[in-house]
Amino acid sequence: MDNDCLFCKIANGYLPSHKVYEDDICIAFLDVNPTSKGHTLVLPKKHTLNYLTCEKNILNHVLDVAQAVGQNMITNLGASGINIISNVGKDAGQSVMHFHVHVIPRYSSDGLNLSFKPKQITDGELLKICDSLKK
Ligand code: AMP
Ligand code: ZN
Repeated sequence: MDNDCLFCKIANGYLPSHKVYEDDICIAFLDVNPTSKGHTLVLPKKHTLNYLTCEKNILNHVLDVAQAVGQNMITNLGASGINIISNVGKDAGQSVMHFHVHVIPRYSSDGLNLSFKPKQITDGELLKICDSLKK
């Protein structure tokens, strides 16, 4: 446990949360600043920085739980869709440096706009990027 980490403190019971699920590996609790009704965070109890640094077996379990939480939102909150997001790094909007997955239930006419703003790109640029990523 990282004593300076907010989510380590919550995950280990030193700080309160509105817990919706817990097992030996992970915990899910309501976001205190929800972007929609039921916005939930799913995270491993063991400290790790982000999605990219998480051990594979733990990551798989966190994603399994996020799936179940999402299904539960459809069944029990009446959500009609879900956004699954994990911010990696400050430039991507990560503010708590302990890996977590946002499970955001969506409702018709909820007014949320998480859509991507398209940028112009040439075929040449797409090819170059593709070559870099294939390495
Ligand atoms: P991110 O910006 O992707 O790192 O997400 C961090 C999330 O944690 C934000 O949506 C915050 O609203 C949420 N958050 C911060 N502190 C708490 C807390 N004590 N309990 C529950 N959620 C929190
Ligand atoms: Zn932590």
